[in-house]
Amino acid sequence: MKAAAGAAGAKRALCLLLCLAALACSQGCGEVQSEPVRVVASSFGGYSLAKAVAGEHAVVNLMSTQDDDPHGYQPDAFSIANLACADLLITMGEDIDTWLPELRRDIDRAQTVVLDLSAEGDPHRLLLPREAAAAALEVAQQLKTLDEQHGEDYEAAAGQLSEQLEALDERLAEALAPGFSFAVAGANPYGCLEELPGVVLVAAGEGCNGETEQWDEELLEKARKAGVQMLLFNERDDTDKVQALAQELGVETLFWHALHMVPQEQREEGATLLSLLEQTVEALEQHALREEKGA
Ligand SMILES: [Zn+2]
Repeated sequence: MKAAAGAAGAKRALCLLLCLAALACSQGCGEVQSEPVRVVASSFGGYSLAKAVAGEHAVVNLMSTQDDDPHGYQPDAFSIANLACADLLITMGEDIDTWLPELRRDIDRAQTVVLDLSAEGDPHRLLLPREAAAAALEVAQQLKTLDEQHGEDYEAAAGQLSEQLEALDERLAEALAPGFSFAVAGANPYGCLEELPGVVLVAAGEGCNGETEQWDEELLEKARKAGVQMLLFNERDDTDKVQALAQELGVETLFWHALHMVPQEQREEGATLLSLLEQTVEALEQHALREEKGA
């Protein structure tokens, strides 16, 4: 009995929420033309792409207003209402946005279009500039479908961003050309790097889901044998642990942002997917220069 009452209560609360959301959505519905497209993105990568592609024609928000990491994120009432109001949800797939199946019915009811940017389920696909370039074009296509009027603007912005990302991809390929072996410090979103020619990864853990990653003697030996040149880490790792491991391996560290979440302060300072990936490629180029000088 108690459980049933609880479920009914939860349902009523959700209904009330959806009604409020619908009310908020319906304001100004008489002038559909002038309403900007509303986009909600579950991770920073998709958010940054949508911001760049949409320009002033759309309102782009992050799913979480609290700078929460999307791994393990549970949408609160505010994000659910926000979703109900959105025209477009940009997700990195169910592997990371585990709440997606649960909210699918509400999303469908609200007629929110879902754009899944995780090609074949890899929620970390945007770490490769060429993949991010392709994703920018996908975002533009979807925005154009929702807002034909500004379709050319979306395509132009995506085209420009995509060119910049392709150019960055070439620099990345060049920096990695001699063949490169990385160790991965903790959270490991870097599986897609293994698609790059000559890249070898030595990682303690398989994934990025926050389970504790352990480096043992065997792995250290494996890393040394692989001739690991740099230790990869991201915003989810403990920097003290990263430094200690780098020292143990006798290698430099390389920060490669997982593009999950960027704190508001950094976003306001202008951090974008492009600028974060650029930083990594620049650091790799600097590393190559030092190696050249040292040789
Ligand atoms: Zn991840």
